[in-house]
Amino acid sequence: MPLTHPNTQSSILQELHSNFLQEHGVQLYVKRDDLIHPIISGNKWRKLKYNILNLKEQKKEGILTFGGAFSNHLVATAAACQLNEVPAIGIVRGDELNASSNDTLKLCAELGMQLIFVSREEYALRNMREYHEELIVEHPNYMVVPEGGANYMGMIGCQEIAKELDQAVDLVVVAQGTSTTSCGVLIGLNEHQKLAVVPALKGYDSRSEMKQLLGRTGIDSEYIEEMLKNKTLVWDDYHFGGYAKVDDELVAFIQDFYRDYHLKLDPVYTAKAMYALFDKIKKGEVENQKVAFIHTGGLQGAKSYEDKLGVEFYTTTSNG
Ligand SMILES: *Cc1c(COP(=O)(O)O)cnc(C)c1O
Repeated sequence: MPLTHPNTQSSILQELHSNFLQEHGVQLYVKRDDLIHPIISGNKWRKLKYNILNLKEQKKEGILTFGGAFSNHLVATAAACQLNEVPAIGIVRGDELNASSNDTLKLCAELGMQLIFVSREEYALRNMREYHEELIVEHPNYMVVPEGGANYMGMIGCQEIAKELDQAVDLVVVAQGTSTTSCGVLIGLNEHQKLAVVPALKGYDSRSEMKQLLGRTGIDSEYIEEMLKNKTLVWDDYHFGGYAKVDDELVAFIQDFYRDYHLKLDPVYTAKAMYALFDKIKKGEVENQKVAFIHTGGLQGAKSYEDKLGVEFYTTTSNG
């Protein structure tokens, strides 16, 4: 399959218009990271970019990373590695799976990623140094990239999202998985800008996760505390029951949003974050502001939700 290169130039800032937004004095812009690449989903390219540059500088053999059965990160890594002629190994959660279990895994294999299926017990070790050392013995000179691309290089890549925004934006809204994207955006904000994060996981402690990741930047810990206290809003009541859970209300929101703004949202991350923003606007908690919503992509992995959204919602008609 011939792949095109990711193009961050295509991540335009698109303004959305409606009576609803106007009534609340909200100027809403969408940062179209979903347009960077059809397969290397938005923020996943931001996170991989410096990892791959680093790999080449260090003359590493390839990338070894981790993901679940439907992981956008695994597909993105497989595609980015093929483009850069870098071997890729994906450690996949679930030893009952194989390379043809679903479209995500099929695509990873097609893109040349070597898939290794491990038990849930083994997968639970994915962040342990000792486990990485064992993997490196088996795959010498590979660079280990954590699940979701959640490392320092990933964060630095996401900092560029904030730098590309209109500096007059007051509030930036982003969905949160590992918090790599949100941490990168946070450190890229200017002094008057604020960040609202919408975790996709139930019970996720956004501030403590962000504190841990930001701690690896070498930024002074007092300054980190201050950024998390004064510049970060946590909207953690919009997980819709938990990670990847979808109900009728969310499905209706995705469909209405597409009808009103001609923009597709994925059910796992961006739809929940956009729902949160619209709810906050409705409640008057966000008003008279310039808001930038980061469309982190994820449409590629959303195909498995098409039976709920109507036939070929994600596969046909282009986004925007
Ligand atoms: C992976 C992903 C996220 C989560 O990003 P983190 O950096 O892990 O917080 C958000 N949106 C989409 C569409 C994703 O695929």
